[in-house]
Amino acid sequence: MLGATGSIGTSALDVIGRHPDRLRATVLAAGCNVEALLSLCRRHRPLHAVVADEDCFEALRDGLREAGLDTRAHAGAGAIEELAASGECDTVVAAIVGAAGLPSTLAAARSGKRLLLANKESLVLAGELLMAAAREGGATVIPIDSEHNAIFQCLPPQPAGNGNAGLPDEAMRAQVARLVLTASGGPFRGRNRDSLRQVTVEQAVDHPNWSMGPKISVDSATLMNKGLEVIEAHHLFGLPGSRIDVLVHPQSLVHSMVEFVDGSTMAQLGLPDMRTALAVGFAWPDRIGSGVGGLDLLACGGRLDFEPPDTAAFPCLALAFRALEAGGTAPAVLNAANEVAVSAFLQRRVGFLSIAALVEETLAALPATAAGSLEVLREADAAARRHVGALVADAPVPA
Ligand code: NAD
Ligand code: MG
Repeated sequence: MLGATGSIGTSALDVIGRHPDRLRATVLAAGCNVEALLSLCRRHRPLHAVVADEDCFEALRDGLREAGLDTRAHAGAGAIEELAASGECDTVVAAIVGAAGLPSTLAAARSGKRLLLANKESLVLAGELLMAAAREGGATVIPIDSEHNAIFQCLPPQPAGNGNAGLPDEAMRAQVARLVLTASGGPFRGRNRDSLRQVTVEQAVDHPNWSMGPKISVDSATLMNKGLEVIEAHHLFGLPGSRIDVLVHPQSLVHSMVEFVDGSTMAQLGLPDMRTALAVGFAWPDRIGSGVGGLDLLACGGRLDFEPPDTAAFPCLALAFRALEAGGTAPAVLNAANEVAVSAFLQRRVGFLSIAALVEETLAALPATAAGSLEVLREADAAARRHVGALVADAPVPA
């Protein structure tokens, strides 16, 4: 469980705790929140606990000892990567936030794990390489993003070890006309661009339907989250951006749809709670309890609404489509610039509208080049972080 102390991590551990006969958390990894990690260790008694921040090692080791646990303490990104690839687990939940999750996600893919992939930034940054690693490593990839998990459920189940990481092969892709990703529209749906100038961090992270970590909550408010998801869907399901559409659906009950070439559309519905997707990931093709109740459409207001996304008010979605089309290093630049811009917004260094502006400026300053290797992608990621970091440093602090 990588990112154990986060929103996805907590949901995943809740599902695991419901099935002691079937599931056990053997490795818990987090960034630097030792107290939260120790509390999870007391509850789940893993074999290993690991913090990315090496300065937190002693606190973790001593805390485990004081709690009387046999759990072994580790620290450093390298330790997370090693444990993700090790025989200590057969399933990896990749739920670290941001590009920081790429090395461990790649390690799990290469070593043939069942990979419950929540860390969408790793797919945006290095989707081709990550999917190739999963195919070559014999991993099974199960998307843990409500939209992609919905699409996964709408597609016919793939035989185990289909050489395509359990995802659609070319023959199946030819039967799909398009994917329709639904979007809640976020907390600012219906507002025009000008009215977004003064929105606060508190308003931006206050999502109407989902409870999530701060970074993805801001991404949902800018619609960059949906843009990242379009790129994510492209890599997972092998379709071009021209066959991936976005539809705003404010109730967040229809989690996405697949339209087939015969005119059928399959949709997956459920309450907005990530434990459903996680239970699918753990048990697929079986079904297990997740703690999420069934859907009563009448109790949910008796209606499902749909509207087109407003890309004038929320330009990040269009920027992501453009980066996907440009290909090469462009998605890596988009992702890195967005991570830095969102972090600057969360630290109140720049205003909400600056997020899209900073990403756009960075994409223009660093035109796409071919991205054949991880090295090239890492360099593009670093260059984008430097570029947008300098722009942020020069920006006036918002009133
Ligand atoms: P979060 O901020 O709540 O949790 C992030 C976790 O990652 C924490 O455990 C933190 O300690 C850990 N972490 C941060 N930096 C790290 C580092 N450098 N090394 C190791 N661990 C590190 O985030 P979240 O909302 O749980 O999201 C996690 C991922 O799942 C993101 O990629 C997000 O886009 C994706 N996702 C989340 C949701 C959701 O409902 N929360 C839905 C779909 C996809
Ligand atoms: Mg999503």
